[in-house]
Amino acid sequence: MHPSLSLYLHIPFCRHRCAYCDFNTYTGLSDLQTAYAEALSAEIRQVSGTVRRPVHTIFFGGGTPSLMSPADMQTILSTVYERFDVAANAEVSMEANPNTITRPYLDAMRALGINRLSFGVQSVVPSELALLERQHDFQTVVDAVATARAAGFDNFNIDLIYGVPGQTLTSWQQSVEAILDFRPKHFSLYCLTIEEGTPMARWLHTGTMPAPDPDLAADQFELARNLLGAAGYDHYEISNWSQPGYECQHNLTYWRNGDYLGLGAGAHGHADGIRYAVVRQPRSYIKRIAAGGGNYPLSSAVAQSTVLDRESKISDTVITQLRLLNEGLDNTLFEAQFAVSPREAFGETLLELLDWGLLQERDNRLLLTKKGEFLSNQVFYRLL
Ligand code: SF4
Repeated sequence: MHPSLSLYLHIPFCRHRCAYCDFNTYTGLSDLQTAYAEALSAEIRQVSGTVRRPVHTIFFGGGTPSLMSPADMQTILSTVYERFDVAANAEVSMEANPNTITRPYLDAMRALGINRLSFGVQSVVPSELALLERQHDFQTVVDAVATARAAGFDNFNIDLIYGVPGQTLTSWQQSVEAILDFRPKHFSLYCLTIEEGTPMARWLHTGTMPAPDPDLAADQFELARNLLGAAGYDHYEISNWSQPGYECQHNLTYWRNGDYLGLGAGAHGHADGIRYAVVRQPRSYIKRIAAGGGNYPLSSAVAQSTVLDRESKISDTVITQLRLLNEGLDNTLFEAQFAVSPREAFGETLLELLDWGLLQERDNRLLLTKKGEFLSNQVFYRLL
């Protein structure tokens, strides 16, 4: 009996590179898209072999997946359906930029089985969108949401970013409330991190952009938590809120430390006790797949893989499951898997985190407290 898998498919193409972005994505490579879709299909065939494993979620991330033509998406998805046993109620998500979609495009995506969209909105405030170098304005978002609903996509997520230099508590509230008016099924709220090598890091180092203010970011997180809580959203993961029953099933696989295949340039996967990463550059990826080989779960384009030892499995289990604010870490399951309790595994450190009010124990589970949610990176750092 094979465990049910999640599939992550990476689409590494964007029209423009946003100022904060350090994802594995490329501009000016649109002529590669069809060859890339064919390579993804070939990679799916390599890792699936002759076994039709069950799959319960499929996620197209990027990059900008909504730049892929319906024909290229069909090439990829028809191979997925042919080589995996995809559940009838599988969640099939696609990230989309609001300025890339049209009604005929979304009709085509629905016909291919996509049933959930994730819109990268980030802010509704023009000056913040300009600083982030996003290519849409708020009206484009209004139109995209209306188009999505008209095409039958009631289930969509909206991403917003806080901690942006120049963003105030008031302007952040404006973004959250404007998006709340759409009543999306799901919200992902991320704190801006300025990564080396991005234009924003350069602006920061040259003093042309002020540094983000972590105290203000903490207040923004708190404000959003209150606004979304009052609007009936369940804060089920550190950065994610949903209407009841609309948690992102795909990401739950990550947070429950389940098995998922990462396919496409720069994708990461975790299956059969192995973590791996696929080669990042799309041209190298296409070449490596064309060379053939590969076997579940590693295709011929895998650049790096690690067989997880017991310590890594313990760390992965803790840092993924504590992210889930309702479920947390189940002490009994942890002990069944590792033959020690979390208290035995983490000793004094765990007692300190409980004592400082960053962790709590409830119903034989370890959970982050409200205070621990915003300081989760420090909690994980101490536990590791
Ligand atoms: S659209 Fe997304 S993936 Fe593309 S450059 Fe902007 S942030 Fe990066």
